[in-house]
Amino acid sequence: MLTGKTAVVTGSTSGIGLAIAEALAAQGANVAINSYTDKEDDHAAAARIAETHGVEAAYIKADMSDGAAARDLIEQAVSRFSAVDILVNNAGIQYVAPVDEFPAEKWDAVIAINLSATFHTIAAAVPHMRASGWGRIINIASAHGLRASPNKSAYVASKHGVVGLTKVVALEEAEKGITCNAICPGYVLTPLVEQQIEDRMRESGLDRREAELKFFLDKHPSKQFVTLEEISGAAVFLAGNAAAQITGTTLSVDGGWTAE
Ligand code: NAD
Repeated sequence: MLTGKTAVVTGSTSGIGLAIAEALAAQGANVAINSYTDKEDDHAAAARIAETHGVEAAYIKADMSDGAAARDLIEQAVSRFSAVDILVNNAGIQYVAPVDEFPAEKWDAVIAINLSATFHTIAAAVPHMRASGWGRIINIASAHGLRASPNKSAYVASKHGVVGLTKVVALEEAEKGITCNAICPGYVLTPLVEQQIEDRMRESGLDRREAELKFFLDKHPSKQFVTLEEISGAAVFLAGNAAAQITGTTLSVDGGWTAE
């Protein structure tokens, strides 16, 4: 379905980003995966994707907290693959503290990686997409792009910002064959959420299942975590031709959280 297309997925050495890169490759897309490290495992992950799916894949190091590096990721991908057709802005971090105790440097880091990097990669990718007359921009926002929770000021602000940016880019590119949408996951069991579960168990003294139900699945009417396959499936759908007229919107994959 995506044979001949090139996808760039930021923050894709683990969790949701890696699952999306794999799913796009399974549809025939060449993929650039990314993180801020330069480990053997990073390059091995790209080699494994290439071999498994018979596509081209490369690992490109770029720190999404640095706007220039985020833009350079796109240029490096274009040099390597001659195009960027699908851009998935996935890199993201979390920090939890009451607003008056929230360290300023943590605020800056969350906004830089979750929101500003999304602006920089889009700005760099859009001219290439316009040149080919086809593009898909998929921003991994969050249910926290639509709803708030206490102690997550930077994360909620960044994800609401991503949803706003998504709408603006969709309008600007609407006549150019480029769509821009946001996926808004509820809680997905990835390293980012595992860390929060462990913190909650430590603070509350609850066992794992009690902590999951009290602090996470209380938000999901389904009482289940979202799976990686459910997020990557949404991304494949938005990347495909069936979604050509879907732009500027949010796709919630959250067990019913934002229906309430
Ligand atoms: P994760 O921690 O498993 O993966 C995050 C990825 O981002 C990693 O590959 C990491 O290397 C990369 N990354 C972190 N800092 C980076 C930087 N400075 N430069 C480049 N890459 C960097 O997290 P995840 O749960 O897979 O989250 C992925 C995205 O999904 C994030 O934007 C997150 O906010 C969003 N999200 C996650 C959940 C969830 O429940 N897990 C829910 C809603 C939204």
